[in-house]
Amino acid sequence: MSDTVETAKKPAILILGAPGVGKGTQGAILAQIPRFYHYSSGDVFRQLDTRTDLGRKFVEYSKRGELVPDKLTIQLWASHMNDLVTSHRYKPDIDILLLDGIPRNQDQAKMLEDYVEIHAVFHLSCPNRDELARRLRKRALKEQRLDDASEVVIQHRIKTYEDETKPILDYYGEDLRCDIDATQSPAKVVYDILAKLQTLNAYQRIDNQTI
Ligand code: ADP
Repeated sequence: MSDTVETAKKPAILILGAPGVGKGTQGAILAQIPRFYHYSSGDVFRQLDTRTDLGRKFVEYSKRGELVPDKLTIQLWASHMNDLVTSHRYKPDIDILLLDGIPRNQDQAKMLEDYVEIHAVFHLSCPNRDELARRLRKRALKEQRLDDASEVVIQHRIKTYEDETKPILDYYGEDLRCDIDATQSPAKVVYDILAKLQTLNAYQRIDNQTI
């Protein structure tokens, strides 16, 4: 498995928020817009064959509500991106990458720095942790997610987000940060994200290209 990504720094947008806040929902909607490519690290992990070493590692960590070790996570990201480029499903010169669930801590952010240039960090904010836990319990029933099934694991995942992932906001700084109220309806959340997206130079550049 190659752990390098072939091309120069890719323009990217980061969707950041606690488990259950709606990152996946928003990422999937935005991915329908031409010139956006949605990479959800959780989805890519869940697609792994659980008979492989990495597939087994993912199950082991995620069922405890823990992060998969950084090196493995970034290697999987890099090899997946290479496959996408090779198969022309993602075109790094004209597509904007929507990163969902990665980077999830400062070390991952540093590891990704050689590959991507982050143009905005959309922070989906839902300060009500009880509401997040409620959404996760609902998702456990609908999607049979092992990591949403137990109260202890849910609380551990929310704590891991507070301790390790949320500090990334400071790492990227105020200029890139865009707070979005994730307690609104999904349509209003996507509306707010799109309003901000259109003001970004990286988006205006691709929007002006004739393809
Ligand atoms: P959620 O949307 O509920 O935050 P995800 O679907 O993004 O959860 O991730 C599910 C699990 O996959 C995580 O709990 C973790 O074990 C693993 N995972 C996903 N992304 C990463 C990452 N960037 N680094 C380490 N582990 C990750």
